[in-house]
Amino acid sequence: MRSENGITTSRREFLSNAGVGLVTASTWLIRTEARSMPGQSDSRTSKSRHTTQEMALRWRALANWVAARGKNLTTIYATHGHGDHFFGVTTVLERFPNARFAARPEVIRIMRQQASPESLATFWNPRFPGQISSHLAIAEELAGNVINLEGHDLVSVPLGFTDTAGTTCLHVPSIGLIVAGDAAYNGVHLHLSESPDQQRRQEWIAALDKMESLKPRAVIAGHKRVENSDSPQILGETRKYILDFERLAVQTTTARELYDQMLKLYPDWGNPGALWTSAQAVKP
Ligand SMILES: [Zn+2]
Repeated sequence: MRSENGITTSRREFLSNAGVGLVTASTWLIRTEARSMPGQSDSRTSKSRHTTQEMALRWRALANWVAARGKNLTTIYATHGHGDHFFGVTTVLERFPNARFAARPEVIRIMRQQASPESLATFWNPRFPGQISSHLAIAEELAGNVINLEGHDLVSVPLGFTDTAGTTCLHVPSIGLIVAGDAAYNGVHLHLSESPDQQRRQEWIAALDKMESLKPRAVIAGHKRVENSDSPQILGETRKYILDFERLAVQTTTARELYDQMLKLYPDWGNPGALWTSAQAVKP
């Protein structure tokens, strides 16, 4: 599946670019291509195509991949609190029990909500039945803003609201790298359903400005099409997508109309199900 392969690529490139044994938790997403599409019922669209075994194997494969390169995983950093980016940490910690799982306090707050029994019962488990560990690891508070790793400073940068509240990116100035988590998307429809009002979308745009001001040479998105490069241009593309969505939200009357108009502009982007939920949030 395209989005899944893309995510795998993001994670691996980060490792090889940085040359250090750190994996960002922002890329451990294993999800279906589309959550729900117009005309499909919830029960039908919420079925995952993966089995429990497949998913556990993939997470284990990630840990094994790190080990096979002779890297000792020391730190797992979560850019933001969405469950699809950290539910697999439990499996990775089994392979690297001494690794530290760290995040900023505002990220941990969202993590706790996402891992709550209510959120698991109403949102996550129906989408990934039987696939989410009953012992989810929650990050510890990151002390300060910097993780030092083999001489590289990895700087945690707070970004405020992007695709959810309290998001961050990880900046590696020595190699001009930004690991953007979901503050930037790369050829995949944005999750705008938590920002149906303009104020929050403005915050997201401010976050993109902030990352651009760091003048990165590469930007790793949490959701990416496998064939795309990790160009810093994705910051501008993410901004353009938000502005197009905003303009078309004014010009259209129904969620379906907004969805169709956006699809015309972004026919090749992955995960159109995210666009559908975004359109429904802005036009309930
Ligand atoms: Zn997210």
